[in-house]
Amino acid sequence: MSVKVCKFGGTSMADGNIISKVKRIIDSDSERKFIVVSAPGKRYSGDVKITDLLYHCHEQMMSEGDIEQGFGKIRERFTLIAKELNLKSDFSAVLDETMARIEREQSEDFTASRGEYLCARIVAEVLDAKFIDAEDVIFFKENGSLDGEKSYRAVAEALNGVTRAVLPGFYGTGADGKVKTFSRGGSDISGAIVARAVSATVYENWTDVSGFLACDPRIVECPKTIKNISYKELRELSYMGANVLHSESIFPVRKVNIPIQIKNTFRPDDEGTLILPTFRYVPSGNIVTGVAGKKNFTVIFIEKSHMNEEVGFMAEVLDVLSEEGVAVEHIPSGIDTMSLVIDSALLPDLKLNRVLERIKQAVAPDIIRVIENIALIATVGHGMSSSVGTSARLFNAIAAADINIKMIDQGSSELNIIVAVKNDDYEKCIKAIYCEFFGKAS
Ligand code: ADP
Ligand code: ASP
Ligand code: MG
Repeated sequence: MSVKVCKFGGTSMADGNIISKVKRIIDSDSERKFIVVSAPGKRYSGDVKITDLLYHCHEQMMSEGDIEQGFGKIRERFTLIAKELNLKSDFSAVLDETMARIEREQSEDFTASRGEYLCARIVAEVLDAKFIDAEDVIFFKENGSLDGEKSYRAVAEALNGVTRAVLPGFYGTGADGKVKTFSRGGSDISGAIVARAVSATVYENWTDVSGFLACDPRIVECPKTIKNISYKELRELSYMGANVLHSESIFPVRKVNIPIQIKNTFRPDDEGTLILPTFRYVPSGNIVTGVAGKKNFTVIFIEKSHMNEEVGFMAEVLDVLSEEGVAVEHIPSGIDTMSLVIDSALLPDLKLNRVLERIKQAVAPDIIRVIENIALIATVGHGMSSSVGTSARLFNAIAAADINIKMIDQGSSELNIIVAVKNDDYEKCIKAIYCEFFGKAS
């Protein structure tokens, strides 16, 4: 029988009324058997997500030794949700136990994970489904990465013969036996793990927009919805900041070709976006599939005459970065130049100075320069490589918007072109690219 795994995000869990909507969505399709939930998100702009309240609660517990105050807001929110849903069980007992365990564990990851835990307990009761704790079925390796094989086996075993189950997203158990979370937005990964474990026919990801949009709706009003997108395009766009889906969430499903469907909890009849393996993907006819970007990068620009003839030049530069534990995002290079594009958060002042000094010692460049406050913007689409003049259109559109391009990097996959601009030009640049390839926002 076909099985659907459904992950509901934070806004879909924001209050009792919305959780009732979620119940109707699940009840309307008997194949929706396994449900993964996020912690309750914002109810209105300016509201605070439960996960953010939990991080704050942890900070307060560590600095002031007090948990009552920080946990108070979380208790209030869950008590309200339980009341709105007329829960039969005494949820205050679950909240008491949770607070006591937070105090015992004294761990940031453990505290942060409780939003998903508490929410899944509530949803399981509302759906009359089995609650399965992610702590018992999702595992990480010693190096912190997901232990896929162990997790798929444990999830499959726990769900075998179960008609309906709810699992909390975002966390599992680390190699040290303690609760460990994924990075922010990680419930998307949990959903993908469950989908893989039960060989789901589809992984439905329910959120607050009607699919993957051609660009961030906070920048362009009502951008076009992408109907079909390949895993590869999705990976590029989500990695580059289109955070509707966590960029790691395709890995569990990609190997076994399970499609991901993005759906809107608030408009369940909308078609949404179907994310397919590249070989099953039907191109939309658009040259560009989507545009996404991220701010706050630092570029280290290095110039040395005949750099290309110096064997091992690049390797020596990269060794410095790797010894300093700094990951490099992109390395566009020319005959005598190379640039290192690095997330600024990885290079606080002292570290940046040390890295520069070490590069100077290692390769004696003619020029070494740092450019800060840089944004990267990726224009992504399978259609780009086969369509002549795409880059010219892209660069002209950016120039016409009076934006100076600091750097260009065309990925070797020919699936994307990345431009670097000043942080201040970020929104303007995304708008210009969107208008060039999609016309005015509808
Ligand atoms: P959830 O809580 O359901 O996991 P998220 O907040 O993580 O939801 O992701 C959905 C949000 O992602 C949308 O509300 C939207 O503001 C934002 N977003 C950014 N880029 C895009 C994009 N290209 N398409 C759709 N949504 C996007
Ligand atoms: N609640 C977590 C977060 O806010 C995980 C998630 O929503 O996917 O990051
Ligand atoms: Mg999310």
